[in-house]
Amino acid sequence: MDFRLGKQAESLRAEVRAFLDQHLTDELVERCHRTGVAHDAGFVRAMHEAGLLALGWPEEWGGRPCDALGFCVLEEELSRAEAPYYGVSTTHMVARTVLRCGNDRQRAEIIPPAVRGEIVIVLGFTEPECGSDLAAARTRAVRDGDHWVVNGSKMFTTNAHVGDHVLLLARTDTSSKHEGLTTFLMPLGQPGIEVQEVRTVSGERTNITYYRDARVHDDWRIGEVGGGWRVLGEALQEEHSTGFGASMVRLLEAAEGWARSAPGRPAPGGAVRPRIDDPDVRERLGRCATEAEVSLLLQRRAAAMARQGVAPPAEGPMSKLFSSEALTRAAEDLFDLLGPDALRSRLSPAAPEGGRVEHAMRFSLGTTIYGGTSEIQRSIIARRGLGLPR
Ligand SMILES: Cc1cc2nc3c(=O)[nH]c(=O)nc-3n(C[C@H](O)[C@H](O)[C@H](O)COP(=O)(O)OP(=O)(O)OC[C@H]3O[C@@H](n4cnc5c(N)ncnc54)[C@H](O)[C@@H]3O)c2cc1C
Repeated sequence: MDFRLGKQAESLRAEVRAFLDQHLTDELVERCHRTGVAHDAGFVRAMHEAGLLALGWPEEWGGRPCDALGFCVLEEELSRAEAPYYGVSTTHMVARTVLRCGNDRQRAEIIPPAVRGEIVIVLGFTEPECGSDLAAARTRAVRDGDHWVVNGSKMFTTNAHVGDHVLLLARTDTSSKHEGLTTFLMPLGQPGIEVQEVRTVSGERTNITYYRDARVHDDWRIGEVGGGWRVLGEALQEEHSTGFGASMVRLLEAAEGWARSAPGRPAPGGAVRPRIDDPDVRERLGRCATEAEVSLLLQRRAAAMARQGVAPPAEGPMSKLFSSEALTRAAEDLFDLLGPDALRSRLSPAAPEGGRVEHAMRFSLGTTIYGGTSEIQRSIIARRGLGLPR
């Protein structure tokens, strides 16, 4: 078994790094951190011009050939560098769902601008009363001639304030739980939709969105009436296969940078050695490095399965579950290691390594929630991986 990614993927890695060196400035990273918005139109345009946005899309849709492992490398590099990519990732996830479940007109109108980075599509699944149990959605869509009229609210609609469309999960029939759901690609910029800012503990900006007699044409229904649960399954499959190994690598680099420069206790002869020489520091860094490697390998395994045309039923959730919990463990461990200095917040001038350890401590908490909580991932693994009953 060869765990190396191969020449093609490694040459893509070099290309992505060169792009990031040129376009991902410290100023941009800082702006994204202050606003909490992981999307930047200028950065997305630059990715398109560099040919990186179209990676993995079929050539007939303007894509550039790239297999799942190459795509994995792109995501590893973007996430390690803290690039503002989340808007692209939801847009492309929905565009791929349109490719599989939409009709010809929807494909023609959505996929080309999505591949060029000209539109932003966000996810409107979670509601104030339901997140894990999405089939309990109560936001109603009622037919009115050629249109549907939508009333309700959606929680955590990340990037709705910069989005053009939302993939909305709505209830069209109250007599059946799962078969009463339908999905729509709804235009966001209309009077019946209100977007209100919500800030998370890690500083990410997300939104609550209210729908009051908002309208969507039936042409923008994705799939059958009552077929929303199947469409949602297509979309969520990808979210359940994410991983946070690259975020751990970033955290490890920050902790190692600190350990190389922070002075330790003087040795008996009086010489002050850096903290990196301290066995406890090495043990913690070693633990983090090991779990970062396992996280990367789990995500690459899910990608390798996708490349072979196998949707990773339990392996994707294993990647999401292990890496988000490993990131939380590592952030707590390294926070503890840095002592009181770790409390200095991200971007504070006195914070060690730009406050990345402090930020990782907060950021890691969200990773165990979005894209399906750890409990939900464990249930999926038990059911699909071990064949246990529901
Ligand atoms: C930063 C951030 C960004 C997000 N962005 C989006 C977005 O863009 N679009 C979107 O639609 N959603 C988004 N979400 C929502 C996210 O997917 C949900 O928060 C998540 O699915 C959990 O739902 P919930 O918050 O309603 O918690 P709940 O479902 O109420 O869960 C509460 C607790 O109960 C546990 N639990 C629930 N059901 C079970 C069960 N069956 N078995 C065992 N334990 C269970 C959960 O694990 C959790 O610990 C975002 C969330 C965050 C934090």
